[in-house]
Amino acid sequence: MKIVVCVKQVPDTAAKVTADNGKVSWGDAPLVINPWDEYAVEAALQLAEKHGGEVTAISLGGEEAKEALKHALAMGCNEAVLVSDPALQDADTQSAARVLAAAARKAGAELVVFGKQAIDGDSGVTPAQTARALGWPAVTLAASVSLEGSTLKAERAMEEGRQQVETSLPAVISIVKDFGEPRYPSFMGIRKAAKAEIPAWSLADLGISAPAVAVRWTEIMNPPARQVTNEMITGSSPEEIANKLADKIMEEKVL
Ligand SMILES: Cc1cc2nc3c(=O)[nH]c(=O)nc-3n(C[C@H](O)[C@H](O)[C@H](O)COP(=O)(O)OP(=O)(O)OC[C@H]3O[C@@H](n4cnc5c(N)ncnc54)[C@H](O)[C@@H]3O)c2cc1C
Repeated sequence: MKIVVCVKQVPDTAAKVTADNGKVSWGDAPLVINPWDEYAVEAALQLAEKHGGEVTAISLGGEEAKEALKHALAMGCNEAVLVSDPALQDADTQSAARVLAAAARKAGAELVVFGKQAIDGDSGVTPAQTARALGWPAVTLAASVSLEGSTLKAERAMEEGRQQVETSLPAVISIVKDFGEPRYPSFMGIRKAAKAEIPAWSLADLGISAPAVAVRWTEIMNPPARQVTNEMITGSSPEEIANKLADKIMEEKVL
């Protein structure tokens, strides 16, 4: 079975992201694989190990996105492909999804695995939109996945509880943290990834033209600065401090 896992290159969580002159900037902070996508890679690898098959990591982005792909290779993916084209500079989620769908088809995917969300764009809609573009079922927020023949079973994790679902391959699935810790890249994997030649597919390679952009970013701005004041609560005993704190909490209508 051919499994495609989609990984995005994003600024490190420690990066201070700011808007400068209408452009997003994260200074000198490093770019890393989207943390949620490591869970997706783990799920794809476990399915391939259990049921046989190959895992191809795909990233849509610039040359720098190859680092996310190398991370996926170091974790154990069999191959990696960068999808890159200057015409995708202002792609929205829908156009990105159409391109990822075309890449998944070209790679021969029967299952496309996503992280639940990119920590920079944060829309969380790319998996569902890719499923729509492929015309395949989407199972989102999966905490566990299993395959029985061409039946995919998953447990979806929601705040209110869990839900068991099943569908048939081909399908699209997005994975949440409850799936379990992603493996660390092995030493051999890191060496293999360092030497790997990662092919780049353009829109022409995918046989499509740039999909229309439906949602445009018209303005990007920093959040308004928050006014924060500190007040030290003092007293002669822990009880007195606790009482003052409780009164303050009630006064501010926190509770
Ligand atoms: C220069 C630039 C201009 C942009 N302009 C616009 C714009 O005008 N309008 C707009 O709406 N958006 C714009 N974007 C945002 C961009 O389209 C989104 O970041 C992208 O479509 C994914 O959406 P998301 O980050 O919300 O991912 P989510 O939907 O939150 O991601 C969910 C999952 O999808 C997968 N995924 C997401 N992105 C990729 C990727 N690139 N490659 C592989 N897998 C991926 C990952 O598995 C991820 O965990 C722009 C981005 C850039 C860099």
